[in-house]
Amino acid sequence: AKRAGRATWRFFEASMNEAAMRTLHIQNALRAALDQGHFSLRFQPKYCGTTNELVGAEALLRLNHPELGMLTPTEFIPTAERSGQIVQIGQWVVRQTCRQIRHWQAMGLPAMRVAVNLSPRQIAQPDLIDTMIDIVRAERVDCEQIIFEITEAVAMHDAPKTVEMIQAFQHAGFEIAIDDFGTGYSSLAYLERFRVKQLKIDRFFTHGLDGEDRGSRAIVSAIIALAHSLNMEVVAEGVETASQLSELQFMACDQMQGYLLGKPLTADAFSALLAERMSA
Ligand code: C2E
Ligand code: CA
Ligand code: CA
Ligand code: CA
Repeated sequence: AKRAGRATWRFFEASMNEAAMRTLHIQNALRAALDQGHFSLRFQPKYCGTTNELVGAEALLRLNHPELGMLTPTEFIPTAERSGQIVQIGQWVVRQTCRQIRHWQAMGLPAMRVAVNLSPRQIAQPDLIDTMIDIVRAERVDCEQIIFEITEAVAMHDAPKTVEMIQAFQHAGFEIAIDDFGTGYSSLAYLERFRVKQLKIDRFFTHGLDGEDRGSRAIVSAIIALAHSLNMEVVAEGVETASQLSELQFMACDQMQGYLLGKPLTADAFSALLAERMSA
């Protein structure tokens, strides 16, 4: 037993080291990434639930690491969040999104809103909104074209402060969406005071629409009814199957996003999609 115990411990230690090494590796990579152009954005299409038209996109960050390859945000954002690097990275995301919006305008493609994710550390910056206004104006884009996504858990963490922040964003012309809705223990009283443009239903509930799960179905239709009564739109995330899509359409969900309809695309692939839609 003693032997087995030691073997287990060694194994544990080895995998701990591996994880720690990877974090260190990623921290260093993040330091160089902005200067060396290792970040890029993907754009995932959002479709209207009633007309099936392309109505927007969500910008999703990628890090192309010279050795580790293409990393998704779950692999590097927690590290960037802890080190504070996310603040600068987040500014790059908004600037790059604006440049892309300008590029689509210059190509004569239809204007649409692009969603940008904000993390807790960014939201804690007292100058967040002023910084975002400066970036967007410097790129000569209308604030109306950006919708910032804040997770429900972060929004509810300090709800009175969130109310003020949402008002300040909206005063500047930005729209706000509450992301991963349904997982963050909302106070319904505050939801009413948030007055955001969109609620994004977490993909956990979208996936729950498959099969016999009556719970998810009840929750999704309740969220949609609540949102509509508060004049908010509902976006379903993670739509992967035709049956999820038809259920959501039946429940009058306003917008759909997910692999069934479109994966996160490179800027060029998204331009092609926009052009194709326009000529259709
Ligand atoms: P999120 O905001 O909930 O974004 C949706 C995630 O679900 C994306 O993962 C997207 O690729 C993925 N997804 C989309 N459709 C489907 C589907 O049908 N099925 C499944 N299983 N997944 C789908 P991604 O790109 O890996 O991003 C993960 C998270 O990282 C995001 O979750 C967001 O919280 C964060 N993130 C991404 N970009 C940024 C950014 O620029 N800044 C900050 N602060 N966070 C970001
Ligand atoms: Ca999001
Ligand atoms: Ca989400
Ligand atoms: Ca999420």
